[in-house]
Amino acid sequence: MISMFYSNGSSLDNFDLHNHSTASDGLLSPTQLVELGASLGVDGLALTDHDTVDGIGEAADAARRLGLRFIPGVEISVSWGDTTLHIVGLGIDPHHEVLAAGLRGIREGRLGRARRMGDALAALGLEGTFEAALALAGSELRLSRSHFARHLVQVGAVSDTQRAFDRYLGKGKPAFVQHDWARLDEAVGWIRAAGGVAVLAHPGRYGLGPSDRETLLLEFKRLGGEAIEVVTGSHRPEQYATWRRIAVEHGFLASRGADYHGPGESPAEPGQLPLLPSSLEPVWTRWAH
Ligand code: AMP
Ligand code: MN
Ligand code: MN
Ligand code: MN
Repeated sequence: MISMFYSNGSSLDNFDLHNHSTASDGLLSPTQLVELGASLGVDGLALTDHDTVDGIGEAADAARRLGLRFIPGVEISVSWGDTTLHIVGLGIDPHHEVLAAGLRGIREGRLGRARRMGDALAALGLEGTFEAALALAGSELRLSRSHFARHLVQVGAVSDTQRAFDRYLGKGKPAFVQHDWARLDEAVGWIRAAGGVAVLAHPGRYGLGPSDRETLLLEFKRLGGEAIEVVTGSHRPEQYATWRRIAVEHGFLASRGADYHGPGESPAEPGQLPLLPSSLEPVWTRWAH
């Protein structure tokens, strides 16, 4: 069995399973993203836009044209207590009605939240940010903090998007708006209903203490979560070893992805992060044949 996995199920494969496009808060179109992945020698690429599968058809077409292995994905926003989590679904059927309906519900919440963010920024003397972010997003259903951050950079309110989060948009900052996303059980359930694998995205980014972290991992597993991201552009390199160990201890498959958003906004381009440690079982063994 193991040898059958070698060509496309080994930790040496350059799979990149977390990337964004203009269908959510990325800067490249789905086609441009796939072209970039192919040019960088990626063996398999997933598109995982926030709360939408709208870019998948275009990305799949481009991948077919270029002979690149493509994995349809999504990154679902989840509220777990006071913490916002991201759950990536990989290998999903993008047309599955349960998943589509769930994602529609989340996206519809983005508009009201964005208006409140705009109001909070206006109260700080930054007028017109809602309209500007909407223009950058191109749709009310796509509006994200990334679009606000880009606008704040464009008008010179901050020098880069990271500072926009540190000063205004991050949790606990003056323009942060608490929002109810999906529940964890819902997100995992939609992904599994659509035939996908549920992956806890960038687990090192949530700022959870050891006890909450343990609770989350056990709950995620109990609900049917199968993998966690270990090597991701949203972890600092020194976090890879911690999450490698946790993946082994908890018996999770491991994922790897740049969390790429576009030129100048991400620490790594698709497929350029270190490969997964060989002690881990890559999540892509789930599709190896
Ligand atoms: P939203 O879904 O509207 O809450 O936006 C979340 C997105 O904002 C994430 O997917 C990242 O792309 C971006 N983001 C969140 N926190 C930060 C941060 N501290 N620095 C830069 N970008 C961030
Ligand atoms: Mn994002
Ligand atoms: Mn994320
Ligand atoms: Mn992401």
